[in-house]
Order: sequence, then C-alpha cells, then structure tokens
Amino acid sequence: MKIKDKEFKSYISHQEIADRVAVLGKDITKKYEGKKPLFIVILNGSFVFAADLLREVNTECDVTFIRLASYSEMQSTGSVKELIGLTENIFNRHVIVVEDIVDTGTTLEHIYDLLQDLGPASIEVATLLYKPEAYKKDIGLKFIGFEIPNKFVLGYGLDYDGVARNLKDVYQLAESE
Ligand code: 5GP
Repeated sequence: MKIKDKEFKSYISHQEIADRVAVLGKDITKKYEGKKPLFIVILNGSFVFAADLLREVNTECDVTFIRLASYSEMQSTGSVKELIGLTENIFNRHVIVVEDIVDTGTTLEHIYDLLQDLGPASIEVATLLYKPEAYKKDIGLKFIGFEIPNKFVLGYGLDYDGVARNLKDVYQLAESE
C-alpha cells in the first residue's frame, strides 16, 4: 500500500493487536487491583492503543492525556522539553505511562524524569511497540505489546508525516524502500 511517497506492507493485524492488548489489560488489572492507577497517555500517537487498552483493564483507574512539547516548536532551539496538559496531582499515585512506540527511548526518558520529580508512588510503562535494537536507555518497560525490528511503522495511531493514524493495522515500510 502506498502512503505518501512510500510503500508499506501490513505487519500486525488489528486482530493480533486486539488479542495482545487483551493480555496486557489482564496483566495490568492483576498488578493494579485496588491501587487505582493513573494512566498518563502520551499524545498524539497513543490515543488508539490507550482507548483499546483501558477497555481491557478491569479495575478502577483514572486517565489523563499529555504531550511532550520540545521548546524548539516555539523557539527553534533543541533540548528543553516540557509536559503539556498534566493537571492531575500525581503525588503518591501509581502511574502507568502509555506510549505507542519506544524507539531510542529519548522521549520516554524525558517524560519519566519529569514525572518522577512529582513524587508518584510508582511509574511503569505500557507501550504497544518496542524497538529493542534502537533502545538506548535503562528505564524498564513493564508492559510491551510487540517487540519489532528497527524499521519504520505506521497505523493504529502512529503517523507518517501526519497521515495514516486511522489505519486499523500496523504497517511496516516495505523491504525495497
Ligand atoms: P524515541 O524518543 O523513543 O526515539 O522515539 C519515540 C517517538 O518517535 C515515538 O513516540 C514516535 O512519535 C516516533 N517514532 C519512533 N519510531 C517510529 C516509527 O517506526 N513510526 C512512527 N510512526 N513513529 C515513530
């Protein structure tokens, strides 16, 4: 399938995703029973995964949505990042960060450090996709949907230059690209 200028092939079907997400939901339910976890969903890409995952969690929980904005969006300089949208007090809360994909881990590390400073009781990570070959950080990923090779993917919330978030399956860049 051609998306913008590149060829993609179906990689993980929506049924495979649904089956795996159901297992993750059960794991989370078991681990957080009675702890009223707070899911912090990292926009934009994680919205589809989060919507499915939360409906597989069968214990009382809260959910909130944040973005990590790099200062460069406003000022054209690199490194400084801030969390946008975190209104909840996370002190003493059991936090589960919901990510669509963890690649090098740079984004996750920023978020993790910023949240850690706010004194949560615990922080764990739930990510749909994880690229172990690219990961350079030490933060443990407790709930992983699929480990994938270091190739570009899209769909199920993940975009390519703003498009393809609405696709039901996850697609991978075709070999020849
Ligand atoms: P990291 O900071 O871990 O290197 O990258 C995390 C972010 O890069 C993700 O939240 C996502 O926005 C983007 N990203 C990394 N790999 C992919 C990929 O294969 N496909 C898409 N669509 N985005 C990716």
